[in-house]
Amino acid sequence: DHLANQIAAGEVVERPASALKELVENSLDAGADKIRVVLEAGGKRRLRVEDNGCGMDRDDCLMALERHATSKLTRAEDLFSIRSLGFRGEALPSIASVSRMTLESRRAEDESGVRVELNGSKLFKVTEISRPPGTTITVDQLFFNIPARRKFLRKTETELSWMVNLITQYSMAHIDKHFILEHNDRTIMDVTPVKSLKERIYQHFGKSMIDELVPFESQRDWLKVWGLTALPTLLKNSRNFQFLFVNGRLVKDKVLAHAIGEAYTGFGEGKIYPVIFLFLEVPSEEVDVNVHPAKTEVKFINANAVHDGVRDIVREALVAERA
Ligand code: ADP
Ligand code: MG
Repeated sequence: DHLANQIAAGEVVERPASALKELVENSLDAGADKIRVVLEAGGKRRLRVEDNGCGMDRDDCLMALERHATSKLTRAEDLFSIRSLGFRGEALPSIASVSRMTLESRRAEDESGVRVELNGSKLFKVTEISRPPGTTITVDQLFFNIPARRKFLRKTETELSWMVNLITQYSMAHIDKHFILEHNDRTIMDVTPVKSLKERIYQHFGKSMIDELVPFESQRDWLKVWGLTALPTLLKNSRNFQFLFVNGRLVKDKVLAHAIGEAYTGFGEGKIYPVIFLFLEVPSEEVDVNVHPAKTEVKFINANAVHDGVRDIVREALVAERA
């Protein structure tokens, strides 16, 4: 089964940022409202996620490390109406198989917590510990046992910038939660809970960004679209500044990217990738999230309706602003 885990790891864990994504999603699924990420050497030496979520007891922890053990799915048909972020039960065993992992957890209702230590998915120690409720997962030396993969990790700043992007994006989707990011003992992000998306954008990017954004919010049949998009004066032409969420899930999607580009037709030269914070709410039967293990891609059942809805709603906001 170790081999199966390593194969799955190839799909789920490409680099520190993909491991981090899985851990943060688990923390969110666990209902945490404070998530602290601690990194060393761009996550290559150490990657730790600490949360104040529901926690796990000893059996839960051991279960969580089994392949296809997920507490989030009970019936096969649930696969088609997924609301929680994780659902495949692959992330923890996959990450464990390619790192030295320590899992610490405690449920609020239990007197003590548990620490589980693994070495490339070999369990070598389970200890009773005292700790606050919640879960801390530490991933040391990612890919220590797959030199070929370790060699392909980028330099610290590059790996780090991907992780900063990632946490920034999650903090946008969860403005009521506290996110902390530390790297080599330096705090590089500390965003406390806020009440509006605007305040969150302010925390990350400052006032100059806020002043260049136009809000939009509209409903078309089952499609709800809202967010903030750049005035044509702030056309950064950077895909890194496009924050796209479907039902709270961070996505990369060609249909949405294209719709946004079309919304800006006539507002600038050439192909435009504006700064945008775009949130879609669609009924779960209108979207398939199970197209890729890394789960950043979605498939809309009615891609045309989504495309045209987004294009029109964003465009209307731009036109209204110009008028
Ligand atoms: P999935 O998220 O697809 O269920 P994972 O391998 O990511 O699979 O996690 C396995 C299980 O471990 C989860 O279903 C959940 O029950 C438990 N788990 C993982 N991380 C946490 C956490 N931070 N807090 C509480 N439970 C967790
Ligand atoms: Mg998960």
